[in-house]
Amino acid sequence: MTLRDYQQQSVDAAIAHFKQSQQSAVLVLPTGAGKSIVIAELARIANGNVLVLTHVKELVAQNAEKVGLLTQEANIYSAGLNQKKANGKTVVASIQSAARALTKFTQPFSLVIIDECHRVSNESTSQYQQLLIHLKTRNPNLKLLGLTATPYRLGLGWIYRLHYHGKVGNTDTPVFDKCIFELPMRPLISKGYLTKPIIFDGLSAQYDFSELNAYDSGEYPQMEIDSLLNHQGRATTAIIKQIKQLAEVRKGVLIFAATVRHANEIMTLLDNDAALITAQTPHNERDDIIKRFKSQQLKFIVNVAVLTTGFDAPHVDLIAILRPTASISLFQQMIGRGLRLAQDKTDCLIIDYAANGYDLFYPEVGQAKPNSKSVPVQVHCPVCQFANIFWGIVDDDGDIVEHYGRRCQGLINNNQQCDFRFRSKSCPDCGAENDIAARICNTCQSTLIDPDKRLKQVLNAQHHHLFKCAQMLLLNQDDKLLVQYLDIEGNDFKQTFNFSTPAQRKAFYAVFVLSHTRTPGLRHPQYNKIADVLADQSRFRKPDLLLLKKNKHRWDLVDSFFNYQGKYKIDMS
Ligand SMILES: [Zn+2]
Ligand SMILES: [Zn+2]
Repeated sequence: MTLRDYQQQSVDAAIAHFKQSQQSAVLVLPTGAGKSIVIAELARIANGNVLVLTHVKELVAQNAEKVGLLTQEANIYSAGLNQKKANGKTVVASIQSAARALTKFTQPFSLVIIDECHRVSNESTSQYQQLLIHLKTRNPNLKLLGLTATPYRLGLGWIYRLHYHGKVGNTDTPVFDKCIFELPMRPLISKGYLTKPIIFDGLSAQYDFSELNAYDSGEYPQMEIDSLLNHQGRATTAIIKQIKQLAEVRKGVLIFAATVRHANEIMTLLDNDAALITAQTPHNERDDIIKRFKSQQLKFIVNVAVLTTGFDAPHVDLIAILRPTASISLFQQMIGRGLRLAQDKTDCLIIDYAANGYDLFYPEVGQAKPNSKSVPVQVHCPVCQFANIFWGIVDDDGDIVEHYGRRCQGLINNNQQCDFRFRSKSCPDCGAENDIAARICNTCQSTLIDPDKRLKQVLNAQHHHLFKCAQMLLLNQDDKLLVQYLDIEGNDFKQTFNFSTPAQRKAFYAVFVLSHTRTPGLRHPQYNKIADVLADQSRFRKPDLLLLKKNKHRWDLVDSFFNYQGKYKIDMS
């Protein structure tokens, strides 16, 4: 048995890394890339004993089998598989069983390999950490390697601190130190290691989830989903009718539903060759459904957020996505369920009925999608030139009209994160630039004033007015640029800019362009004429609030607030 080129490359990357480092490492390989072979090869060539951990018995069995193909048989420690051997050159264990029997793991291991390692928590009380702490008492130089297809978790972010492409990952709570190898999906498909996906948007009917806003965790509120679906009742009937038609020439169909209620509704529209799996489905019932699906007694499985990883039925050739997701990784995981090779399978049809609008090859941004129009955009850092991937909005030509990046993700000298910030707020005490959400200055530790607190203080003083800006207009008035801010009642506040001299044009840049740009860090053209600005006005964003101060007979602008989320927020409803 020989390794594929990228499998060998990932093995080589792990060897090279551990030769010169004790830091924990991650290999990122897409679903279907053959992670078990990589694990088996590492177990074969490692000096010392190797422990392979995973969270489901199916993967324990699969990994042990592959080890047996490449080198001497592995011992298995898994209650679910009725085998409990904790010692040997290679031990493959389920984390639940191993964590309950720490004292059985007496021999020193030199390397621990964790499969599906995005599930590892860095809570010291978690099963993985308890076991690792125990193993380090046997060998303080224990090396740790994780493998996953999705090195990212909604709400937690990247699982590693650094990426070998020179990019910062998670600086707050990383579980692993470094991603040392990452294989994208595209070459696997072009080389024929994975089935070709054919992706369509909902063909005849589609849900409209664009009103949903994700929590910071990236999850959507279930009640809001149900309520939106209630108003789109006939869509489900049309969608399921179409899926059934398309399924006539397909062998296995996976349907991803948005909520349990939604899934139950879908089930009433399918026939008796369909089954439902939710998080509440008992294990033995679930095993039975999957068995009947794999043997093709069942044609459809409807599921709610359970079959994204660890489920392997190669014959799946139709995937219907009826749920919204704020995560590119999650979307790609769902698609990954249909890309395994199988006999007589030439492609896998994938239909996105929820208008998620992701591309299979999009890079993960590392944050939940901020709104339904966002796509990943590439923004070069003006300081270190690193090509950042942020959420943003593009126009019909694909040009970036807005991006939501805050700090450059590039690594510079000695793996320090580049400190250029695309959006920031400056500390009033020391002038240092801080993240727009920071509460404490990163340089002088002084408390950054909460905008609401400041507004409250100022508004209690006289002569101040808070202008809630609903609209911003740019106009040419007598050869001056007029910026007119309007509130919902039609009151306005105006700023004018002269454009006659270079100094005036520079002032416009400093006062207006820098704060109103939707694309910080990307150059604006030089605006020599007012018409140039008007032609480019879609690149400017309106502030949410203007703080104005009365100065004799006119109002002066004291401060503008963009992306304001506090209690003085404008009520548009
Ligand atoms: Zn940079
Ligand atoms: Zn400061």
